[in-house]
Amino acid sequence: MTGHLTRRLLFFRYMSSIYTFQTQNLPRGFNSSSNKQASINSTVQREKLVILGTGWGGYSVLRNVNKKHYDVIVVSPRNHFLFTPLLASTTVGTLEFRSIIEPVRNTGFRKTDHFHLSEAIGIDAKEKTLECQSVLTLGKAYKIKYDKLIVAVGALSNTFGVPGVYEHTSFLKEIADARNIRNRILSNFELALHPGISLEERKRLLHIVIVGGGPTGVEFGAELYDFLREDVSRLYSEEKDLMAVSLIEANKILSSFSEGLQAYAVKKIQSRKQMKLVQSHVTEVHEDGVKLSDGTFLPCGIVVWSTGLAPRPFVKMLDFDKNPSGQLLTDDKLRVLGDETNSIYALGDCADIQGNSLPCTAQVAERQGKYLCESLECSRKGENVKPFVFKNMGMLAYLGSYKALTDTPGVKAQGFHSWLLWRSAYLTRLGSWRLRMQVPIDWTKTLLFGRDTSRF
Ligand SMILES: Cc1cc2nc3c(=O)[nH]c(=O)nc-3n(C[C@H](O)[C@H](O)[C@H](O)COP(=O)(O)OP(=O)(O)OC[C@H]3O[C@@H](n4cnc5c(N)ncnc54)[C@H](O)[C@@H]3O)c2cc1C
Repeated sequence: MTGHLTRRLLFFRYMSSIYTFQTQNLPRGFNSSSNKQASINSTVQREKLVILGTGWGGYSVLRNVNKKHYDVIVVSPRNHFLFTPLLASTTVGTLEFRSIIEPVRNTGFRKTDHFHLSEAIGIDAKEKTLECQSVLTLGKAYKIKYDKLIVAVGALSNTFGVPGVYEHTSFLKEIADARNIRNRILSNFELALHPGISLEERKRLLHIVIVGGGPTGVEFGAELYDFLREDVSRLYSEEKDLMAVSLIEANKILSSFSEGLQAYAVKKIQSRKQMKLVQSHVTEVHEDGVKLSDGTFLPCGIVVWSTGLAPRPFVKMLDFDKNPSGQLLTDDKLRVLGDETNSIYALGDCADIQGNSLPCTAQVAERQGKYLCESLECSRKGENVKPFVFKNMGMLAYLGSYKALTDTPGVKAQGFHSWLLWRSAYLTRLGSWRLRMQVPIDWTKTLLFGRDTSRF
């Protein structure tokens, strides 16, 4: 019986390894014959295409570029791609962290040292040289030559210079941020149960403030609400009435959505007893709470900061043309303005097309990555390169309690059906079959057994 099971497992592993090899490890231009060819012709001179970043833009280039014609080298402080639209779900355990990240080495590199776990710290455009710094060995800087360079380093959260943000808030951009938030929430619940903690202090610990009413802030609030409704009420039944969530936004929430959908979202959030919408600016963040522009102090245990974007220090120090927000300006073919060699491209959140600003979204970054691969092919073949045109597919946002918003050019909808669309749309967009298997398993586990509240 055990032998039979082992054989079945080995068979499954064998089949899945063939499948993974065929579907993931062979990016465009790599098939078994071209792979053999690649090793036979290892002396063939290919152009060196260096990609900075493994986010939506960089990963899109990595997956779509024709590797027959380029030695593709990736430099990134992160060795995985992160599916950001589902990041908020990991902060409360609706999904597990590893279910929304994909190791970039699964895409297949011609040589193992074509991926560098480092960050770019400088570009010498005249010499076509990139300066990198290992994120593992501090102080270890080195140089890489490139023929073409693609800058897709994304952006940081904008703090607007508000004192205390770096010291006392969590951002929600990386998997480590989500993990930090999840641990803080669970720690605060346990701390609130310790003997000798006053009622006032328990309320403070269980009050979560979200600064910024964009899709990230609203979706994080939605996940907190589901956690409160489905798990806190079951596991911390005496504390459930003490938990509160405040969403602070100076203007309108979900401002990129249509007015009707915004109004629906506001109504939904306001109908929830333990959720509050606060229209104000945060002027100071302290260890134990936030100060608002009217002088009010809101005591709280956790502050999550999600208010727009600011350029990374690397982008700030580059000597190319930039817009007033500090993004690299490009032409309509994504070539960086100010680079006289015409061999540096920029896309995604770190870049802005002159005269055609686009929203900073995954959708834009991913399309730009695909476009760049197509335009590289065109120019290699001596064909005319067309400018980048963005066709907006619309937006979705989760509101909690199986309700979502759909705002596409053709359809404006809200409620349960939008939630179904939200889930199925993201499921199909996940970067690999492994994630497409993992995410529904997590959703089912959460539905059947509740969220995992282990703190580690
Ligand atoms: C929580 C959350 C939810 C979101 N939800 C949605 C959504 O539902 N729909 C949508 O369209 N958009 C969404 N977005 C926005 C979307 O994720 C971004 O617009 C998108 O990630 C931008 O892609 P990018 O490639 O420019 O940057 P990123 O995806 O941020 O990637 C940047 C990469 O560059 C690397 N890097 C940083 N510095 C350096 C350096 N010096 N050298 C080399 N590499 C470097 C980083 O490690 C990272 O790998 C969401 C964002 C967040 C944070």
